[in-house]
Amino acid sequence: MAQFDYDLFTIGAGSGGVRASRVSASFGAKVAVAEERYLGGTCVNVGCIPKKLLVYASHYGEDFDDLAGYGWSAGERRFDWATLIANKDKEISRLNGVYRKILGDAGVELFESRAEVVDAHTVAIDGKQITAKYILIAVGSWPTVPKFPGSEHAMTSNEAFYLPALPEKVIVVGGGYIGVEFAGIFHGLGAQTTQLYRGELFLRGFDGDIRKTLADEMRKRGVDLRFKTDIVKIEKNGGVLKATLTDGNVIEAKQILYATGRGSKTPNLGLENAGVQLKDNGAVVVDEYSKSTVDSIYAIGDCTDRMMLTPVAIAEGMALANTLFNNQPTKPSYLNVPTAVFSSPNCGTVGLTEEQARARNLKIDVYRSSFKPLKHTLTGRDERTMMKLIVDQTNDKVLGCHMVGAEAGEIVQGLAVALNCGATKAQFDMTIGVHPSAAEEFVTMRTKLA
Ligand SMILES: Cc1cc2nc3c(=O)[nH]c(=O)nc-3n(C[C@H](O)[C@H](O)[C@H](O)COP(=O)(O)OP(=O)(O)OC[C@H]3O[C@@H](n4cnc5c(N)ncnc54)[C@H](O)[C@@H]3O)c2cc1C
Repeated sequence: MAQFDYDLFTIGAGSGGVRASRVSASFGAKVAVAEERYLGGTCVNVGCIPKKLLVYASHYGEDFDDLAGYGWSAGERRFDWATLIANKDKEISRLNGVYRKILGDAGVELFESRAEVVDAHTVAIDGKQITAKYILIAVGSWPTVPKFPGSEHAMTSNEAFYLPALPEKVIVVGGGYIGVEFAGIFHGLGAQTTQLYRGELFLRGFDGDIRKTLADEMRKRGVDLRFKTDIVKIEKNGGVLKATLTDGNVIEAKQILYATGRGSKTPNLGLENAGVQLKDNGAVVVDEYSKSTVDSIYAIGDCTDRMMLTPVAIAEGMALANTLFNNQPTKPSYLNVPTAVFSSPNCGTVGLTEEQARARNLKIDVYRSSFKPLKHTLTGRDERTMMKLIVDQTNDKVLGCHMVGAEAGEIVQGLAVALNCGATKAQFDMTIGVHPSAAEEFVTMRTKLA
């Protein structure tokens, strides 16, 4: 008789949970996964994928503006939100099916219900108790809205993906990448868009030149960006929301989106009963192998608040499967994790920012280039692309690459490989560029900033 019902019981079939479950099963483990809401988790249903589809949709607006310089003319411009959302939903349900198949093919048993932890080896689900040698917490995160008068009228990114209509006026609150991306989406689709952020400049933690360049570009496009500004109250009058700001101004909108933070989805999960330690913000405390303070309970992905990104959750899931069921204890690597902001225009970044390098007292050279993209020489659009390299003076290693411009997210992926290989500036310089492209600028920057 086996001591436990399963070798691994995973709570949450999102990016991390699905990867950990199916790879563990491929190593011969008997695995079950519980999912209470949607297969594929945040990324597939209310995160990366639907967001990127909406970003694509929003870019067509610019293409209409730009086509005349290339000799094209188009008929009446019309956008139908309902068509976009219906098509997006169709694609998401296809992806839900793909995830179901992936788990089934791997021999992972799926419980489509909420699971809670009872003790170090037991979960409760559907009124039953199930035992497992290891329990994996992969419950993800959830958007949070601060409490203030009228905050109940605000929506989060979850609802934004299912709005019945495109709001003609919208306020986006928050300066993280989700807020910036939604401001670009709404603006690009034709909504009058205001973005508020209580700090000096949005995208805290990104390189200063990315933050400044993107703010300039968004303003040029017509987004009403207001920094050092927050909402103190929201009043609802019929179908209109009235937001009173910290500077006393009042602005009206049809919808107000709060993208001011996400919290781990750990409340009421029974973790405290099992003795699992949580941080003040609810994140599960884990060691470098994703083990919680209870030996048989592990946690990966957003609920550990390490780096809230899909590829990171997947890498943590993969490392965990290797550690527990492949005899290869593996620590996930967080070295040079590239990220993109799918704003208009995109930002891409990998490695140290100039500010981080200086805070570490590193001796650095900084290379920066700002230019009008070739495409816009004919469109007349006043847009600049910015690229930047941070180089260690002592060994010539490239420590960081940063870009604002078309396809920055695509370009930075290859640069992340170079940084992980320890590429030097001299090696960047000896690499032949792809011409004509924006990316070639990364291998042709020769003048250090003073
Ligand atoms: C708007 C938005 C845009 C984003 N864009 C990007 C992007 O462009 N690139 C990127 O890398 N990342 C992006 N992210 C972040 C990314 O979606 C997350 O980092 C990733 O989904 C985390 O994976 P996870 O496995 O930790 O959690 P999730 O994918 O959230 O999965 C957790 C799952 O657990 C389930 N669950 C929770 N509690 C229980 C329970 N008690 N019982 C059963 N099931 C439970 C949930 O229903 C959910 O399906 C975005 C996020 C948002 C919100």
